Amino acid sequence: MNLPGQPPKQGARSLDPHLRRYAARTAGMTASEIRALFAVASRPEVVSLAGGMPHLAALPLDSLSAEVGDLIATDGLVALQYGSAHGVPELREQICDVMALEGINAHPDDVVVTVGSQMGLDMVTRIFCDPGDVVLAEGPSYVGALGSFAAYQAQVVHVAMDADGLVPENLREAVAAVERTGRRIKFLYTIPNFHNPAGVTLAVQRRAEVLEICRSHGILVVEDNPYGLLGFDGVTYPALRSTDPDNVVYLGSFSKTFAAGLRVGWVLAPHAVREKLVLAAESATLCPPTLNQLIVSRYLATHDWKGQVKTYREAYRERRDAAISALEQHMPVGSTWNKPTGGFYVWVTVPEGVDTKAMLPRAVTQRVAYASGTGFYADGLGSRQLRISYCYPTPERIREGVRRLANVIKDEMEL
Ligand code: PMP
Repeated sequence: MNLPGQPPKQGARSLDPHLRRYAARTAGMTASEIRALFAVASRPEVVSLAGGMPHLAALPLDSLSAEVGDLIATDGLVALQYGSAHGVPELREQICDVMALEGINAHPDDVVVTVGSQMGLDMVTRIFCDPGDVVLAEGPSYVGALGSFAAYQAQVVHVAMDADGLVPENLREAVAAVERTGRRIKFLYTIPNFHNPAGVTLAVQRRAEVLEICRSHGILVVEDNPYGLLGFDGVTYPALRSTDPDNVVYLGSFSKTFAAGLRVGWVLAPHAVREKLVLAAESATLCPPTLNQLIVSRYLATHDWKGQVKTYREAYRERRDAAISALEQHMPVGSTWNKPTGGFYVWVTVPEGVDTKAMLPRAVTQRVAYASGTGFYADGLGSRQLRISYCYPTPERIREGVRRLANVIKDEMEL
């Protein structure tokens, strides 16, 4: 992608003197479009609706810094030391209490703390996927998950969604189609709540059916749920893991409910899988950062963390409203979008003839950035879609960004 202000990349690969040394699996490792965008999109004059950076609204920085100071003063020799690859025991207990809010009844031994849920995705793919194995994933799906699947040379087969999330009938058809080719499906990767990037939520009445389809075909479910507590009406949905503990691996994270920079997430795995995950974690990092785990643990114990989640929800709801009203006001006829009930993202379909990937450099010139839909598919779809992240900018900037975006689309229609 040629973006203003970026050095030309052409030829860079052929100049790499190490080219013949790389493992075959690195062929699937390409910079995500969003990463390529990051440098330009972070310029102050550009309204970035591209990245999914959380808005750290009203985090109690003073009391947090006092807490961290006290932690180091009183417990520093533990906090600054290696720990177990499994994670700090008291945090794993607290994580079980957090998951109980979505109906999960888990034992702390089955929780493995990770460096963000991104590491969980990497570990789960690493322990389950051989090259060529199939992973089913919603279409569109989370770009970071697609990156992990590509890194382990798994083949992604997308399953289309509608306004109520994954469509069970489409899942059945996808399973049958893959089975006909004789390939092995290792798991279904799904983001049931406030989907990234589609913004939709899997209807509660579909959840049992999705689980039943997977169970009856011997397919594991990987449930990725970083946004579950960020429903704008305070509604939480029953986790898939809550009804089928033996066939669901659940990924959780404090990135969106507390602080992404601490990089603390977790995997809750069926008991039998847990040991392999701990070994995979050990070989990746030895152990997750002890200090960060203890910070999260103290925060959960001493702060009104649920009140903070409510503050986040309100900030995101206000931003969602700004995005939706600006879309209604400015977007040209022929565009459609959904109204998310939680999370960070609106998924927009632009009028026919507009290619969101080709349009992106021109949008950046017009001082607005977004994520084009193609990055969220492993199979090249998505050129008429784009993702707007309303999580980070102020409502005014969001409105201005959407106005600029609509103008770029209108110009594009006239080309
Ligand atoms: N899964 C989904 C669906 C996400 O949107 C993200 C972050 N944007 C992650 C996983 C990774 O989050 P983290 O590693 O910060 O926990």
